[in-house]
Amino acid sequence: MERISHWIGGKLVTGESGRNGPVFNPATGLQTHEVDFASVGEVDSAIQAAREAFPGWRKTSLSKRSDILFRIRELIDANRKEIGTLITQQHGKVLSDAIGEVARGQENIEFATGVPNLLKGGFSEQVSTGVDTYSIRQPLGVVAGITPFNFPAMVPMWMFANAIACGNTFILKPSEKDPGASMLIAELLKEAGLPDGVFSVVNGDKVVVDRVLEHADVKAVSFVGSTPVARYIYETGTRNGKRVQALGGAKNHMIVLPDADIDMAADAAVSAAYGSAGERCMAISVVVAVGDAGDRIVGAIKDRLPDIKVGNGMEPESEMGPLVTAQHRDKVAGYLEGAAAQGATLVQDGREHGLYREADGFFLGVSLIDHVTTAMDCYRDEIFGPVLCVMRAGTYAEALELINSNPYGNGTAIFTRDGGAARQFQFDVNAGMVGVNVPIPVPVGYYSFGGWKDSLFGDTHMYGPDGIHFYTKQKVVTARWPDPGTSQVDLGFPRTR
Ligand code: NAD
Repeated sequence: MERISHWIGGKLVTGESGRNGPVFNPATGLQTHEVDFASVGEVDSAIQAAREAFPGWRKTSLSKRSDILFRIRELIDANRKEIGTLITQQHGKVLSDAIGEVARGQENIEFATGVPNLLKGGFSEQVSTGVDTYSIRQPLGVVAGITPFNFPAMVPMWMFANAIACGNTFILKPSEKDPGASMLIAELLKEAGLPDGVFSVVNGDKVVVDRVLEHADVKAVSFVGSTPVARYIYETGTRNGKRVQALGGAKNHMIVLPDADIDMAADAAVSAAYGSAGERCMAISVVVAVGDAGDRIVGAIKDRLPDIKVGNGMEPESEMGPLVTAQHRDKVAGYLEGAAAQGATLVQDGREHGLYREADGFFLGVSLIDHVTTAMDCYRDEIFGPVLCVMRAGTYAEALELINSNPYGNGTAIFTRDGGAARQFQFDVNAGMVGVNVPIPVPVGYYSFGGWKDSLFGDTHMYGPDGIHFYTKQKVVTARWPDPGTSQVDLGFPRTR
């Protein structure tokens, strides 16, 4: 059994806690690795290495930092397939999707190479006679990122690219389900010339997270994962005086208006619901069909389902791989049982797929549930699997109300040919990311990513300009250089300008 340990101070460090967890290949169902779970002492040693590396890294010139980021970008680009293969073998998503994830993550490194421009401050000359005021942004110190299983390369890049570009040192706690990609990325960062201690990976579970949250030397925590954990991270981290951004779960609705191009909407719904087996925080999990769009969109989606090729993600013809663990697959399948019992119509049941019944891997076919209501568990919970729910709404206003009263507000989309309706939706909807005829509106790297309501705790979105803001604090300097002999004592506020 191969072992995955930690990356601390620029080298591999074998775990000594005696605690560990299994990593599976979801396509075969076999355990391939054992991942070490760090102890409090091991977390402390990573934080210490990051603390020691901080003064030197902070002093490193912007052009040198940018140069290293360019090299990181090149190395990640050259290793896309290797990183993608690790992702497919530990997460299960198909290789093309895994390589795509690396490419989207790379956008964040490309953005961060522009750090000399991004960290430009403001300068106001002569704010008072002979007085200038200027603002500068400085790094926070040691910062940490805690990431989910579903994007084992992209989400860490959302965080560390800007964090290190701004002069911070970074500790990553990846998901214990698929930590392989993070370890390879750590090696590439070193190869690119990043000084030891600027980037460390500490594997593990809640013990690691809790130590990060309580350690006084960690100044900020970025989190992406499920809503209950996001809320816990936000509350605990901020109580301990840290800056926290905690992105949570989602239930993303896609409205289909009666005038929509139904084929286009069905193609989009199928791609966005079942891609990566629905294990994307921006996956469409609910189609809200307005008026007579209902039967037409359900029919068009249903027609497309038999063509979806489920299989091992390493096989080029596979379009959808297995789920991440057997336990998660069984939980997702449980919602199908529940939906039928609660009165929904199971148009397609993923449990009927041959691989679900016969394979050792954690497969489940695609499922389509129609006539879903807000009272049903399949609507109330984030399923995070290849299950698409369809709800019927009489009017646009009813559809909007459904979205706005849902506790999550990550992404949403509208499909229509009516520009006025789309614009009204963009104005009305309570969600952080909106697609117009785009089902998965993940912003490009030079915008920022984040949801509303229970999908994000904190006030900055992740990566892009918000990421620069999150990983720096502002200092404002007021300066004057009067000639000697011109000063006088004055105990009051300045009375003249
Ligand atoms: P998760 O919340 O179970 O785990 C996320 C991280 O938190 C992992 O590193 C895990 O080890 C750690 N963790 C888990 N339980 C913990 C606890 N009790 N205390 C402290 N740390 C704990 O999430 P997951 O299953 O890995 O990922 C799927 C979830 O992530 C879904 O809910 C999905 O919507 C969400 N997600 C959100 C976004 C977004 O941008 N909003 C992006 C990707 C994934």
